[in-house]
This record gives sequence, structure tokens and C-alpha cells, in this order.
Amino acid sequence: MELYSTLSPGLEKIAKEEIESLGGKVKEIREERGRVFFEGDLKVMAKLNYFSRTLERINILLYRGEVESLEDIYEVIYNLDWTFIDENKSFAIRPLRVGSHNFTSIDIGRVAGEALIKSYLRDKNVRLKVNLDEPDVIVRVELIHNELLVGLDTTGDIALDKRGYRVYNHLAHLNSTIAASLIYLGNFREYESLLDPMCGSATILIEGALIRRNIPPGIFRERKYGFSFLNLFGRELLEDVKREVNINYEKYLIYGIDKNPKFLEGAKRNLESAMVDDTVNLILGDATKIDKIFNEVDLVVVNPPYGIRLGKKRLLRELYNNFLLSVKRVMHGNSRVICITAETKLFEEAIAKADLTVKEKFNVKFGGLSTKVYYLTL
Ligand code: SAM
Repeated sequence: MELYSTLSPGLEKIAKEEIESLGGKVKEIREERGRVFFEGDLKVMAKLNYFSRTLERINILLYRGEVESLEDIYEVIYNLDWTFIDENKSFAIRPLRVGSHNFTSIDIGRVAGEALIKSYLRDKNVRLKVNLDEPDVIVRVELIHNELLVGLDTTGDIALDKRGYRVYNHLAHLNSTIAASLIYLGNFREYESLLDPMCGSATILIEGALIRRNIPPGIFRERKYGFSFLNLFGRELLEDVKREVNINYEKYLIYGIDKNPKFLEGAKRNLESAMVDDTVNLILGDATKIDKIFNEVDLVVVNPPYGIRLGKKRLLRELYNNFLLSVKRVMHGNSRVICITAETKLFEEAIAKADLTVKEKFNVKFGGLSTKVYYLTL
């Protein structure tokens, strides 16, 4: 079966490794486009929904090809076989359009919906119900320039980055799938220490703790949002996948610093909700004075503030410079610092001042914002 995943653009290579570790056979990655195409059976699909930490959505690929017009889209949808949808189920088309066309994504949704209803009527003599608010079956119709992707959404309207453990909402919180990807990038090994020195609501710390403890995001997700594939294939697949859960309750050396007590209070609530409060230590402190708190740290993963307003530039420059100088004093030969920021110029100046080595650097799109990820060593 052909599948494809959507994820934050820029993190495709990390997602590829995760998909392969969970049984998928990756065919193609679209770098910086947030799409990975792969092969796998229904079990792989269910496993990815339950265990994946880097993916946002998993779709079964029904069609992929070039089209030129709305009429072409109608033809494609009309000629697909939709009889696998139970006749009592409702459906919705979720359209997406990237590039320039003389029609809108709403037009795509309308035409595709009409074609699906007519196709079903032809094959089953039943008029399938549309439910745009709470559909049983979600069909993705994505036109990216002139490439059309038609996919059966197995995840649901609420993508996998919404884990379900967040009870405190930091205004500038990091997307959980990006946080997990950064921890994979840093290769957080058993019994190493992990520090987020500007931890906010603890997304990076929680994702690090969940990875170390083998706690699948699906545990929270199932309780709060469920999965779309249950409407399509029943519960048995999910129960089967859940037999593979193997949590360990060891404690790990995971630390978070923030200078704002209110955020630390929120971080504590999120940690409790994610069942990892006993393995993460929160410290009220200053990221420019890490060396006053620690002697040595193995892995630092951080999402510092980005100054949206110009007036803040000077303060940010000082923060970035002093943070890197301080972190350098606690690094050893094997320490890694992973940082995601939109303030690339200031951060690169700070890297040069601290004389750290850039091992890797790449673009990541985060909520419409262009950011860069840096992998630094001594
Ligand atoms: N990754 C976090 C999350 O998911 O909630 C959000 C981090 S937010 C972009 C940046 C954080 O850095 C804020 O919570 C802010 O209080 C903290 N911060 C700013 N300057 C700091 C400093 N000198 N020391 C420690 N924390 C600092």
C-alpha cells in the first residue's frame, strides 16, 4: 500500500528515519516540502499513528499525478473506487492548493465532493452523506502546483503534533513534532543529560522524556482526539499495535531552566499531564549563567525567544551571545547543542563569538515562519 506523510517542512530526513524504524519503506522525500512518500501495510499505518513523534498526518495515497484543470480533478476523483467507504459513513473533502491557479481551494473541495458522490452513486446506488464538521472519513485533495495528491486521511483533522498532554499553553510554545525531531537529531542516548535552558512550557523536555521512556504519543492522543483510521478499519488494528508498547519507568537526567516562574509553573503542569514530572527537573534561572548551575551537559536542545519587534534586537543579541558563551563552558568533547531560531543573523554572530563549530544547519518552516536549525559542537 502506498502512503504519504505530512510534517513540518525541513524535517523530512529525520522523519524518513523514524518511518523506516516503524516498518515503512520510504520511496521519496520532498525536501522542504513537508511530504514523505512510502510503502507499508495497514499495521504500519496504525503504528505510525500511534508511535510516531515526527509526523503530523499519515494518508493512504489513492492517486498521484499531474492535472491542469478542475475538470481533470473531477475526472480523477470520479474514476477512483470509493466503495470501501461504508454507506452509513459521512465524508468530507479537505482541499489544499499551493501555487497559482485560476480557481480556489474551495472550488477544489466542491468539485471533488461532487465527483465522489456521483462515483459512489454509480457504483452503489447510494448517495453518500457529507459532514464538514465531524466527518467519519476525511479525503485530502491537495494540488501542489500541477501535481494532484488524493489521500485518505488516517489521522484526523487534529494532526499528530497535537499530542493531548498540553494543559498549559505558552504563547510561543514549540510544535511537539519539531521538538521530538530536534531530540532525534541530537541523538539523545541512554543516560545522557538533556538540558533546555529556555524551556518555557517544557515541550522539548517532555518530548525528550517520552522518547527515553518509550511512552508513545498515542497514549495521550487516543484519550483526547482519537484516530480517523478507527472509522475506516475498526479498533482491532489499534489494539494490536498497543500490544507493542513497552514503557520503562527509569529516571533520566533531564533539566529545564527558565527565568519566568509563571512559565515554570505551567511547565510543571504539562510534565504531570505527560506522566514525566518525576524525571524532569525544573530550575528557575538564567540561560546566560548555565555554568553556575552545571559542570557538564551532554545534549542541549533549545528554542530561544525570537524578537519580533525591532526594539528587542539589542537584548536578543546579548542573550544569544551570553547564552552560547555560558553553554560552551559546560560542553565536553561529545556535547551537542541543537537550536531552532528565526533570528539567524544574531545567532550566527553569537556562534562566531563563542567559536563553536556548526556541524549541520538547515531550514525548517514552523507555523509559516522561516527558521533555521543549528547543530553545534565544540
Ligand atoms: N520551547 C518552549 C515551549 O515549547 O514552551 C518555548 C520557549 S520560548 C520561545 C523562550 C523562553 O525563553 C521563554 O519562556 C522565556 O521566558 C525564556 N527566556 C528568555 N530569556 C531567558 C534567560 N535569560 N534565561 C532563561 N530563560 C529565558
